[in-house]
Amino acid sequence: MSLLVEGLFKRFGDVPALEGVSLAVAQGEFVSLLGRSGSGKSTILRLVAGFEAPDAGRIAIEGRDMAGLPPQARPCAMMFQSYALFPHLSVHENVAYGLRRAGQYDAGRVEELLRLVGMAGYGARRPAQLSGGQQQRVALARALARRPPLLLLDEPLAALDAGLRAATGAELRRLQRETGTSFVLVTHDQAEALALSDRIVLLEGGRIVQQGPPAEVYARPATRFVAEFLGAANILTEGGREYALRPEDIRLGGELPAQVLSRQFRGESWMLECLTGDGRVLRVSTPGPAPMEGNAVMLGWPATALAPLS
Ligand code: ADP
Repeated sequence: MSLLVEGLFKRFGDVPALEGVSLAVAQGEFVSLLGRSGSGKSTILRLVAGFEAPDAGRIAIEGRDMAGLPPQARPCAMMFQSYALFPHLSVHENVAYGLRRAGQYDAGRVEELLRLVGMAGYGARRPAQLSGGQQQRVALARALARRPPLLLLDEPLAALDAGLRAATGAELRRLQRETGTSFVLVTHDQAEALALSDRIVLLEGGRIVQQGPPAEVYARPATRFVAEFLGAANILTEGGREYALRPEDIRLGGELPAQVLSRQFRGESWMLECLTGDGRVLRVSTPGPAPMEGNAVMLGWPATALAPLS
């Protein structure tokens, strides 16, 4: 096990930030901590990295208990949202920094790292001469320099514009695979977590509400919060039970009569809002061609598409 966290509690004054968080990260696994702002994601990372001490609970990295160990003695590296590169040092020296401090400087290793992140040839530049995306790559090379078995990433893509974010996310994933490093990534962006992770851990109010592979959590959300946080969801109540039904699981051509209230083109699909004969408004995603507003349609879904919520 790369990381084992058991029964973590942390409060700041009278604000409870974590209320009993337990999770495990396997060797080489890419895990995302996903939740709204203030749900406790960064607190978990800071406790694992050793910047703060938990009130209660246990943290082990690579099977070693971390209690009382300062950040620099822990077998992990952390990458922050603000890349925190040294402005007065060259790219090469930024990447070399941790290696020099550990007495392991090796120019070849630095060049290899810059190649790995697609920044070969940029060693002599200063951070100010790089774009945001390039600075992010250098920060990543620096974080990976000492081959940490575990890398903690706090919103690493948040400062990039939307176009660059998707490409850099794919790059992160490739690097994670190539280096075999375990990644724990904090994000509030559900699309990012779904796209990159082997496993998503969903947090709400300092507690884990659900965890699992992205496709599983998306298709089988445990609560209404999870269902709506991960994407568009219809919430149905039938027989006193609540269910989530994804818009793409509803097909045109079923037994339930409805009328199209509105339609929005999403590029790869259309999103319809339909008023059913029994007075419900359902969102329906269809690849098209889409019926017009006001058109009568018939809706249907397989019983297996209904995800029971607790
Ligand atoms: P997230 O990363 O999910 O946005 P955080 O872990 O940063 O959430 O914060 C969890 C809760 O703890 C929030 O209510 C936040 O305001 C509080 N908190 C975090 N760090 C501190 C701190 N240093 N002092 C006081 N409150 C804090």
